[in-house]
Amino acid sequence: MILLNPGPVNVSERVRKALTFPDMCHREPECAELIQNIRQKLLKAFVPGAESEYTAIILTGSGTAAVEAAVLSCLPVGKRVLTVNNGVYGQRISDIVASQRLGVPEIKLEWDEVPDPEKIRTALKHHPEVQTLALVHHETTVGLINPVNEIAQIVDDMGRVCVVDSVSGLGGEALQVAGSHMYVVAGTAGKCIQGFPGVSFVLIRRGFIERVSKYPKRSMYLNLPRYFEAQEQGTVPFTPAIQVYAAFNEALSELLEEGVKNRIKRYATSAAFLRDQLAALGVKTLLPAERQSNSLTSFFLPDGRTYQELHDGLKERGYVIYAGQGLLSNKIFRVANMGNLTQADFEGFVSAFKEII
Ligand SMILES: *Cc1c(COP(=O)(O)O)cnc(C)c1O
Repeated sequence: MILLNPGPVNVSERVRKALTFPDMCHREPECAELIQNIRQKLLKAFVPGAESEYTAIILTGSGTAAVEAAVLSCLPVGKRVLTVNNGVYGQRISDIVASQRLGVPEIKLEWDEVPDPEKIRTALKHHPEVQTLALVHHETTVGLINPVNEIAQIVDDMGRVCVVDSVSGLGGEALQVAGSHMYVVAGTAGKCIQGFPGVSFVLIRRGFIERVSKYPKRSMYLNLPRYFEAQEQGTVPFTPAIQVYAAFNEALSELLEEGVKNRIKRYATSAAFLRDQLAALGVKTLLPAERQSNSLTSFFLPDGRTYQELHDGLKERGYVIYAGQGLLSNKIFRVANMGNLTQADFEGFVSAFKEII
């Protein structure tokens, strides 16, 4: 089955084989070595040239675990979080913040709307109690890219901390983590890094994690300093999903061999191909080109077609697409191009699509 949903993604045989590596105890040095390898590769991939300024913290759990750990761990006592909400995942951050009553009124936008960095500057001026600005890099809800580098710069200039959910961004979209003083970025194995779901991570500035260690522990399980301190000592606080970690380690080797820039270029080329081919069939995209990501496209449903018909016809032919959410659920369908996919896979999808319509 070819997965054209935004994670879990199709993985290579090499990554799949890594799942079957020898049984291992998580309290033995082999496991410590595996985790150190993953951490180093993450830094090499996402903060090249600034590896010594950052650290990577690995968690067992889907992407949301990393986002929740980042948001709840990185806030000093008495301070608040301001969330930018222009999609389901921005809403999820707001829900995390609300679960602990740590928020101020969010910046709420339409799903196709990009936040204005100057409005964020103004909001931060009006809210001295806000220490964290949290937002999503690639809003997977519709496939929209938020201007996180520009926003992170403003947030840093104002002495606040930008916490970024790049769960569906890292590996597929350019992100200047070190250059724009982005202190905290959450990611996952099972999307553009082309591993399996079940392991996620947070990239965090070294100086900052020292400070975070003194902040209130708002969760027992999802507390970043707990993982950081254990991982620095070559151990882990809880039983990790070791086999999934081994596959993640292999997926990171693949990413470094391909090169992050080349991976991004490959995704951009595939997305452009899908958009051109469907445009030729009269299928329109929800977003204008300049707001679209490299790895997911929201298309309007062709006239007279329901999502279910389209989905079922494609699935019969071996392709899984993804539904729209909320008010868009009967208007759009989503096609992701993340994962170990080839041009032939995309051509096959386009032929199947033509057959159906
Ligand atoms: C997939 C995704 C997540 C995490 O979802 P999980 O189901 O927990 O892996 C978070 N943020 C964004 C933007 C995502 O696309």
